[in-house]
Amino acid sequence: MSIQSKLPQVGTTIFTTMSALAQEHQAVNLSQGFPDFKVAEALIKEIDQAMQSGMNQYAPMAGLISLREQISIKTEQLYQYAPHPETEITITAGATEALFDAITTIAHPKDEIIVVEPAYDSYIPAILLSKATPISISLKKDFSVDWEAIKKAINPQTKAIIFNTPHNPTGRIWRKEDMQQLEKVVAENPHLWLISDEVYEHIIFDNETHESVLKYPTLREKSFVISSFGKTYHATGWKIGYCIAPVALTQEFRKVHQFVTFSAHTPTQVALAAYLKNPNHYLELPTFYQERRDYCRTLLSQTPFELLPCEGTYFQTISYAHLSQENDVEYAKRLTREIGVATIPISVFYAHKTDHKVLRVCFAKQNQTLETATERLMKKSHLLAVQ
Ligand code: PMP
Ligand code: GLN
Repeated sequence: MSIQSKLPQVGTTIFTTMSALAQEHQAVNLSQGFPDFKVAEALIKEIDQAMQSGMNQYAPMAGLISLREQISIKTEQLYQYAPHPETEITITAGATEALFDAITTIAHPKDEIIVVEPAYDSYIPAILLSKATPISISLKKDFSVDWEAIKKAINPQTKAIIFNTPHNPTGRIWRKEDMQQLEKVVAENPHLWLISDEVYEHIIFDNETHESVLKYPTLREKSFVISSFGKTYHATGWKIGYCIAPVALTQEFRKVHQFVTFSAHTPTQVALAAYLKNPNHYLELPTFYQERRDYCRTLLSQTPFELLPCEGTYFQTISYAHLSQENDVEYAKRLTREIGVATIPISVFYAHKTDHKVLRVCFAKQNQTLETATERLMKKSHLLAVQ
């Protein structure tokens, strides 16, 4: 007897594939996006204390109220808007759960959902599980937003647009002009919802500020805004995220959330609620990561790759289009096997596997890790130009 797949087109994610290949070949793993920096001792102590003091049972379904209050305060300080902790903020098991819940909340069969691509890999499977239709709209060649293509794709069946800024995998950001375009789109199409993936909200460079949809009243009343503590506190394994959405959307969102996980890890929520009171860590994150980005670019500029712009996130994209015509997945795998450096090929984030001959490098790594990767790339640079 064979099981009928609900996701026949889905295999193992590229992150699992590349991390496993990296391990097999003892490659420096710059593929899957996770930091190798230590979590702050004080934050770990808070979790320990929470556990020792007995905070080990289910958290409230919507999340610990003290954490939701802190998120509201942080949101007001950063985006001049205070979502109501009781009715507009929900804590989830990572942004991945929040994305799944938001998509499941709104997607009905026959709905079309616009996905701005290259897109984070969890969006489309969630849309398909709701039997809705993903409509992938590509960023332009320079990875800026193609507003004309988005406008053209909208029709009465279009239920929502999903987008992400700062953007994984390209490292580009949306600016004020993009948000103004989005305001126009929403004004002309009042039937649209928005799902704004802002997990890299604190990792943005060169004195740019993050354009959260929460700053824009006409956008936030239509939006599920999703973030995660994994990126902010160097703790991707903790899987605590959240969703900010207006009351009516949050009510429906929680109906899904309560049957996906019911609630997220209690001691971590207790710890984050205490730790968030001090904004220093997330306010210093742009400087911290800009130093990492600059060092990564300095190192990689010694290799034959072309470095593309990196405005946010902890990902640097590099082009090898002038070096080889090899398919990017094969190229990335070969570099892992033959040079010992694992990266992520960008084509996997496109519905039709568009291959720009671009790889994504995660620079949330100690200097030594980046140096070893660069040394290996330079030592075997003759292998980068193999056709
Ligand atoms: N969205 C994007 C764009 C991401 O890069 C990630 C994880 N790297 C997520 C969502 C998922 O976040 P989490 O680990 O909190 O589930
Ligand atoms: N979001 C991480 C990345 O982009 C990986 C998350 C995962 O492994 N699912 O690399």
